[in-house]
Amino acid sequence: MPERSDLDVDALRARLIAHRDEVRADEASTVADRAVVDASDTAMGRLSRMDALQRQAMAQATERRRQVELARIDAALKRMDDGEYGACLQCGNDISLRRLEFDPAVPLCITCAGGRKG
Ligand SMILES: [Zn+2]
Repeated sequence: MPERSDLDVDALRARLIAHRDEVRADEASTVADRAVVDASDTAMGRLSRMDALQRQAMAQATERRRQVELARIDAALKRMDDGEYGACLQCGNDISLRRLEFDPAVPLCITCAGGRKG
């Protein structure tokens, strides 16, 4: 499939790579928060232990979102390599330029995504 002439794939690729670097930098900066809390650690007060567990749960939820985001970015980069970038994964129609410029990792056209704005 030929690349779409209306897309500046190189520019979008650069944005995806920059975004991936940001996500990875975030990931590295929160490793300590995600470390396993020892709930049997009696040296730690009950409240600070609850606080630590809550912080850990939040950090883990954020980490899961980061993993999803990284997967989306990698999948979009792979579609660029394969020359399939810009086509909806579900129906195969072109994803609008405006939508791709808003979020270069977007995998679906607006119809398949449920008509949400973006
Ligand atoms: Zn579609």
